[in-house]
Amino acid sequence: LRNDQLDQWDRENFFHPSTHLAQHARGESPNRVIRTASGAHIEDRDGKRLLDGFAGLYCVNVGYGRPEIAEAIAAQAKELAYYHAYVGHGTEASITLAKMVLDRMPANMSKVYFGLGGSDANETNVKLIWYYNNILGRPEKKKIISRWRGYHGSGLVTGSLTGLELFHKKFDLPVSQVKHTVAPDYFRREDLNQTEAQFVAHCVAELEALIDREGADTIAAFIGEPVLGTGGIVPPPAGYWPAIQEVLRRHDILLVADEVVTGFGRLGSMTGSAHYGIEPDLITIAKGLTSAYAPLSGSVLGDKMWKVLEQGTDENGPIGHGWTYSAHPIGAAAGVANLKLLDDLDLVANAAEVGAYLQKGLRDALGDHANVGDIRGEGMLAAVEFVEDRADRRFFDPERKIGAQVSAKLLETGSVIGRAMPQGDIIGFAPPFCLTRDEADMIVAAMTRAVNEVL
Ligand code: PLP
Repeated sequence: LRNDQLDQWDRENFFHPSTHLAQHARGESPNRVIRTASGAHIEDRDGKRLLDGFAGLYCVNVGYGRPEIAEAIAAQAKELAYYHAYVGHGTEASITLAKMVLDRMPANMSKVYFGLGGSDANETNVKLIWYYNNILGRPEKKKIISRWRGYHGSGLVTGSLTGLELFHKKFDLPVSQVKHTVAPDYFRREDLNQTEAQFVAHCVAELEALIDREGADTIAAFIGEPVLGTGGIVPPPAGYWPAIQEVLRRHDILLVADEVVTGFGRLGSMTGSAHYGIEPDLITIAKGLTSAYAPLSGSVLGDKMWKVLEQGTDENGPIGHGWTYSAHPIGAAAGVANLKLLDDLDLVANAAEVGAYLQKGLRDALGDHANVGDIRGEGMLAAVEFVEDRADRRFFDPERKIGAQVSAKLLETGSVIGRAMPQGDIIGFAPPFCLTRDEADMIVAAMTRAVNEVL
């Protein structure tokens, strides 16, 4: 097919996610048809190669074009493309993967329910939390607390958990069972005189106040990403997680660690929970579970919830929750091959090492720029945030779309993909773990040029 034909069909037929629909239909935004990819690079139909500094949507963790995963998928498809996982059915791949997942999770985690993507896994989590409190005879304990700027999916409940206005407006969200508390973003603190410890105390006080207002007996769980992702790539201030956890324990509120981005190595540790000493009751996994070679997610349950769920089925019969594609054999085969590759190539260690090198490169190159307010990161996650004035940390008028301009320039002049995060003037990087130091240097050089051209 010719490119102009594809472009026409695309604009006529294809509803793209997270897209300005009217601009797309009018041809005002570009289309890009990706043809192939290898390592950290993608290539479009015109042969243009781009360095993917965001690993797709921070998911192609082992890098593109891995024959080991492609072959595992092909072998599984030939032997058994599908069978369901209901009432005790499984495949060698799904059973092996469940064991491999649990081996990599904190010690108190005891079971994994497989879904397809991060959104449905969080939907599962909410249902299981509600089931849990019903079995315990406290049906009023159902609300879920999430953070402003957290990202947990875009369904009805999960879009409610997501603390970004774009995902609420015109959809009548959030639903009434979801409440939001402050984002742990020290750089964006309102009181610039606050120390990091004082800011953590402020986050804790805000959470306590919300629990008091709503009543602890109405709150079932708290959900958070170890590092805020889509909300701006914000590592937590020191001491944040232990302090939050202490409050939750005191009020018998479950903790869900949404590790869709951080799970399986992105922070340079196998999980964000291990990285920050978080002890969750539930963990959400997706993206890095298969490095996006096939859709697969998981809700990983701790012992505490599992025991109650088991008891619930003795009282009520089988649990009424399941997808046709739960534990899909092709996703499971991709997951097994992916986690094996992660170990064999020691990619988590590379994420830690080259990620630190990338962050240092960005700091050395841009740390003194008058419009760079913050450069931050953890493992293979990094972000650069722009300000109009550094001295009083004044932000740009959002109408100027500085982040989007830098990201467009990065692509145009540097052939590098850095994501303009949906809120604030923030460019995020989340490259594949196989990124080399030379590729990190390319990102830094392209970013420096783009920032200097726009600002
Ligand atoms: N949770 C987190 C932390 C995410 O970053 C995402 C997606 O980016 C999701 C959940 C939703 O996952 P999905 O887009 O696969 O539904």
